[in-house]
Amino acid sequence: MPKLNENYLNLTENYLFSEIAHRVNTYTKANPDKKVIRLGIGDVTLPLGSEVITQLHEGVNDLASVQTFKGYGPEQGYAFLREAITNYYQKNGISICADEVFISDGAKSDTGNITDLFDKDNIVLIPDPVYPVYVDTNMMDARKIIYMDATVENHFLPMPDPYIHADLIYLCSPNNPTGAAYTCEQLKEWVSYALENHAIILYDSAYECFITDKTLPRSIFAIEQAKKCAIEFCSLSKTAGFTGTRCGYTIVPKELNFPSSDGRNLSLNTMWKRRQTTKFNGVSYIIQRGAAAVFSAKGLAQCEENIKYYQENAKMISIELEKKGFRYFGGVNSPYIWFECPNQMDSWDFFDYLLNNAQIVGTPGAGFGKNGQRFFRLTSFNTHENTIEAMKRMDNLF
Ligand SMILES: *Cc1c(COP(=O)(O)O)cnc(C)c1O
Repeated sequence: MPKLNENYLNLTENYLFSEIAHRVNTYTKANPDKKVIRLGIGDVTLPLGSEVITQLHEGVNDLASVQTFKGYGPEQGYAFLREAITNYYQKNGISICADEVFISDGAKSDTGNITDLFDKDNIVLIPDPVYPVYVDTNMMDARKIIYMDATVENHFLPMPDPYIHADLIYLCSPNNPTGAAYTCEQLKEWVSYALENHAIILYDSAYECFITDKTLPRSIFAIEQAKKCAIEFCSLSKTAGFTGTRCGYTIVPKELNFPSSDGRNLSLNTMWKRRQTTKFNGVSYIIQRGAAAVFSAKGLAQCEENIKYYQENAKMISIELEKKGFRYFGGVNSPYIWFECPNQMDSWDFFDYLLNNAQIVGTPGAGFGKNGQRFFRLTSFNTHENTIEAMKRMDNLF
């Protein structure tokens, strides 16, 4: 009989989205005449830009002829895409080598798979609330997790505690679900802390393209010395609407070297390459063609247009919450608006209240950690029309 990984028994039941679906279904069955508006969507809704579509078609055409056919590609990703990404960073003043870029099927896989490089015996620092993947993947390996409270008091941006030692630190900025984004000064503190503790920052920048404040860093590598202590995960999911298309990238600097227990030198870049070449055979050529188009001038302009559309929705939601005196966060450098439930309400009770009285579906903060229990997340991924209608309903309700 196999011995199973019983750490899976310690995972909390991921019932957030199924429970939401269940409550919405029950409501719509009982109230078939009511129009429900979904502002809980954590997925993009606008189609891919035409530049990406053209290049996806070109990719298909290449596979149709013997001269241009492609079989297995380089596991690390095609050079044309890795170079497009290094150029993108260069435009933001950040120098990355193409062999530090690893193309993957998305940031969820990479933020989860990166744990392969680390022993079980590491102390992991994770913000609460946050994207649940970091907690769950470390629970699967039974690593010790220390939670950092993200609260109103610290503007949902926890800072290092010099009295707590950690080996691995997860940061997500702009944050899902709170929409909070670290400043350069704050990230400098994190980099100093990581260097002092010989720790590694695992930096999820999946929402970097939503940053509008030009003073905010879009990459951890905008911070000096970060290449000595950080790995960055990024994705075309939110940047370019690739949630269904699937493509992301991870940057593992060559400066990330640590001694092994017998005194040899271990390079995380080499280890990640070994990990990927062993367990992963790369992203489809067609998708990589489409992904490279994202980084062309035309491609980037088309992505910006879609992001602007979502940002206008975020603005409408923020204006309404402001008007009604809600304590809200995010919505400026993020597609998410995070706010305190009125009257100290529990987030699931508020979910029901909003569904029953305004037919608006959001996401209860409790689904992202204990500090989310009295908070609620609305997203900007619905249409202008539906967002306007939802805000009218909020206006009448509160
Ligand atoms: C959406 C999201 C991602 C992107 O994941 P993909 O697997 O690339 O689609 C990564 N991190 C966070 C925090 C997200 O919300």
